[in-house]
Amino acid sequence: MQWVSLGTTAIGMVIGMAVAVPAASWWSRRGAARAQREEGNRERRAHMVTRLAGYKRVIESAGIGTFFWDVKRDTLRWSNHHYAIFGWPAGTAVTHDMFRNRVHPDDLAAVDTAIHTAMREGSDYSIRFRLRFDDASVRYVRGSGRVEVDSQGQPLRINGAVVDITEATKARSASRQRELDLAAVAVYLPDIIIRFDRELRCLFISPRIETLTGKPANFYLGKRPFEFGMASALATRWEAVVEDVLRNNHVREFDFTQADQHDVERFFITRAFPSLDPEGKVETVLTVSSDHTERERDTRRMREDGVLLQRADRRKNEYLATLAHELRGPLAPISAAAHLIRFSTDRAVRNQARAVIERQVKQLASLVDDLTDVQRISTGKLEIGRQPVSVQHVIEQAAEATRPLLAQKGQTLACTLPDAAIWLDGDAMRLIQVFSNLLTNASKYSPALTTIFVQAWTDKGTVLVSVRDEGIGLSQASMADIFDIFVQVHPTGVQAQGGLGIGLSLVRQLVELHGGTVMVESDGPGRGSQFTVTLPCKDGQPLPEQAADPVAPTIATVQDSLAVLVVDDNADGATTLALLLEALGHKAVIALNGLDAVMLAAEKPIDMAFVDLGLPDISGVQVALRIRGTPAGRKLPLFALTGLGRDEDRYLTSAAQFDEHLVKPLQIDHLIRITREVARRRTRSADNGAAQEDEP
Ligand code: ADP
Repeated sequence: MQWVSLGTTAIGMVIGMAVAVPAASWWSRRGAARAQREEGNRERRAHMVTRLAGYKRVIESAGIGTFFWDVKRDTLRWSNHHYAIFGWPAGTAVTHDMFRNRVHPDDLAAVDTAIHTAMREGSDYSIRFRLRFDDASVRYVRGSGRVEVDSQGQPLRINGAVVDITEATKARSASRQRELDLAAVAVYLPDIIIRFDRELRCLFISPRIETLTGKPANFYLGKRPFEFGMASALATRWEAVVEDVLRNNHVREFDFTQADQHDVERFFITRAFPSLDPEGKVETVLTVSSDHTERERDTRRMREDGVLLQRADRRKNEYLATLAHELRGPLAPISAAAHLIRFSTDRAVRNQARAVIERQVKQLASLVDDLTDVQRISTGKLEIGRQPVSVQHVIEQAAEATRPLLAQKGQTLACTLPDAAIWLDGDAMRLIQVFSNLLTNASKYSPALTTIFVQAWTDKGTVLVSVRDEGIGLSQASMADIFDIFVQVHPTGVQAQGGLGIGLSLVRQLVELHGGTVMVESDGPGRGSQFTVTLPCKDGQPLPEQAADPVAPTIATVQDSLAVLVVDDNADGATTLALLLEALGHKAVIALNGLDAVMLAAEKPIDMAFVDLGLPDISGVQVALRIRGTPAGRKLPLFALTGLGRDEDRYLTSAAQFDEHLVKPLQIDHLIRITREVARRRTRSADNGAAQEDEP
């Protein structure tokens, strides 16, 4: 490289150049940079303006109005949308007072408080309030703002925004109102209402559910039917139905039974229907479950009653046919025996015929007694007296009553009874009826020459008496309703034994009235049956007086002879009773109507009267009242002797002051007992009268 020597000017120029050139280039570089910067700023500004305009559009399109409030000058700058929300033309000069006038008066205090608090504390605020317009329409808005304060903490300005939330609020309050309405209805309706969301979760359920399941409504909220605690098969049905309504937008109905909290089976019919959103899509599913248990029960009861009625009707018809047959049965031997008495001269034959008549009449009487009892059972009026009764006595009497039947068939009765008397509180007559029914059946439904076993034993305060036979037995099915009235398992054919199908029903009723039970066992047809009666018994009771021996039919002495008035419009009935009384040593006088009876009682010396109730002129009750109205008749022993044996008939005769109500036919020993008692009373009162006369 070669160095070149230069002059001072040149040097100066060089230096000058050296300075000037860089300076010029620096200046020119600086200008370019500034221009570049300005260009950048312009671009940024333009960009910012564009972005701001974008934001503004976004803000406006979101329904947001913006404002700027210069507090010191009290000027407000609002965006176009803000004007639109407040219902003023854009550019209107708005003051804070104008703003306040637009706010709904009911919300003004809250708005003022929110803004003042924010201004005092230099903080933000956000508040929901209503605007009220000149045409009284209302718009819901949410207003929010930020307060800027100066160095002294005084508010300078507020930047804020207002959003029109009218639609959302109205929609929300409409749906809220719907829920409130639903809740109110649900409280008063007996039905259970449930609302399910699209995930099958329970959104709402009637509070009434608690009375049904014992679980409060809260338990169900947010749960699906599977979590409700119902049987899984039922939950599956629920979910399928709700799902179907959601998917297919239609109404479904289904029924089901479910046990309530007390384990009572209840029957429901549920309707499920869609609840739509504003776009018509299924938003939720509403179900209404109505409890039809009572109606269902009534229907079922009516159906069952109908069946029972039909069955009862059938039984009644069968019963009437049987009754006719049973009543006709004794008539043939009675009629034959009467002819025998008339034509036969053989004393033994006549005695036999008399015995036949007595037996058959007893049979007829017991049939009629059963009929009366049936009437009492069907009206729930069968009553029993209560006295200490020995079980052994009852069984002996029942055995006694059935002995002739057993003897006829050559059957043996094997009784195994405890030696020590077993006592119970009961009605001896009715209990004898129970066991004689069982013994009669055992004999009737067993072949000749078999044995009937009766056994009694005690167990924990009860006495059990079983009557077992070796007879035709019973199938499992026939044992189910054997104690129902008019039921006859063997009503026809060779095994038909006569009877009305009443006996066992009476047995059960009577045993139950004594607080006991009766059951039947059988190993099947042809293998015998056993009936066991269980009754509450008591220990340590004193022995009651033994029943008096049957009265021997002796002729009354002259002293005991009575003058008896017999009142009956049935001449045969009156005559045979009068003859019987005379055969027993009494004197009888007959009246065939009521007025004659009253007259005879007043005119003749009468010791007692048997009065039929149904008379052609005045009733037997009237006769009694009239006789009682006379001095002679006040103490006259009066006995109603009638075919009417119902409780109401007995009530009437006791009201008319009859001494006793007797039901036809009157048994001979009963007649003797009554006449003896009357004679005894007459003697006693005569003695008393004499004693009084003897007194000084
Ligand atoms: P019935 O007058 O027909 O005997 P019950 O009420 O006494 O009426 O008995 C009802 C039915 O029960 C009878 O018709 C008979 O079919 C059946 N039954 C009763 N007792 C016996 C028994 N010991 N063995 C077999 N069947 C019996």
